[in-house]
Amino acid sequence: MKDIIEKIKELKKTLGDSVVIPAHHYQKIEIVRLSDFVGDSYKLAVDCSNTESEFIVFCGVRFMAEGAQLLAKKYQKIIMPDLDAGCPLADMIDSQIAEKLYRKISKSCKREIIPIVYINSYSNMKSFCGQKDGSVCTSSNAGKIIEYYLSQDKAVFFSPDYNLGINTARQLKIPSDKIVKIENDLTIEPGKDLKDIRLFIWDGFCYVHKVFTTDDISKLRERYPGINIIVHPECDEEVVNSSDISGSTQKIYQTIKDSPQGSIWGVGTELNFVSRIAEDFKDKKIIPLRNSPCKDMEKINLTNLVQSLSSILDYKTGKGKLKFEVKVHEDFQLPARKALKKMIEISKG
Ligand code: SF4
Repeated sequence: MKDIIEKIKELKKTLGDSVVIPAHHYQKIEIVRLSDFVGDSYKLAVDCSNTESEFIVFCGVRFMAEGAQLLAKKYQKIIMPDLDAGCPLADMIDSQIAEKLYRKISKSCKREIIPIVYINSYSNMKSFCGQKDGSVCTSSNAGKIIEYYLSQDKAVFFSPDYNLGINTARQLKIPSDKIVKIENDLTIEPGKDLKDIRLFIWDGFCYVHKVFTTDDISKLRERYPGINIIVHPECDEEVVNSSDISGSTQKIYQTIKDSPQGSIWGVGTELNFVSRIAEDFKDKKIIPLRNSPCKDMEKINLTNLVQSLSSILDYKTGKGKLKFEVKVHEDFQLPARKALKKMIEISKG
């Protein structure tokens, strides 16, 4: 491991400013330590758009690398050490299904329907949203984005994560009778009048966050009186309700960082991230609610990182072709970028 780390550092030095390595919070600790900056999907997309480097070696999953490509400058190339690092949540809906549903609910609802897609989605879904004047959102700005459209007397079609949708709806105090779940077979609560619905939520989920239970929380509270419980809003509603705080990965990291020395935290999110928080803040006790790693995030490792950097060097010196490049289909570029920019505009407003 020491040799390969040295090799990566050497390649980084040789490639200089032409390469930058962003890493998502859920990456393994050795990858994070070798990266140039770390963050959640939104922070990474924005930080990447502010770099000048020709090659962005994105250590995360595919939808994030696609997001970076959408916001990148024309000359920049996005490289992903393992192009198979996907996301089962993002796989749960695509633009064809979304289009079908959009037509179905538009017929039954009296308001204009605006699609909002979580950033954890592929470019075809972001493009679908852009075409319909909708927006992307993240776990930290979902409330603001949904409210923006509701305040214009529109109805929202939210996908793909049901838990983020419902947990945000509760925060916004949207009445339960104005919310419906859309099942994966496209059925919508039978017998329910859809005319006055304000929020349609697709029934997708992240298996990493779905596993946490209120029982996990009770056990930790029993064992460590005074413990603080913080969870991601992709967790089930009752888990979020039983926690003390819920928020994005960025918020989880910052909240624990800012907490007093000696405090104890039970954390409901991805395991590699929780382990790194424990490493970074040794003056606090950090315990995962249960061990739940993201298998796709774990596909990025030192071996494929060194291969990506070597391929860039070969390409630059004319010795070989560039490998591991991520390219968003041309048809999706403009509308997907529009939906991403809409999110940035609403978030800043
Ligand atoms: S943690 Fe969940 S949402 Fe994030 S990449 Fe893994 S499966 Fe997808």
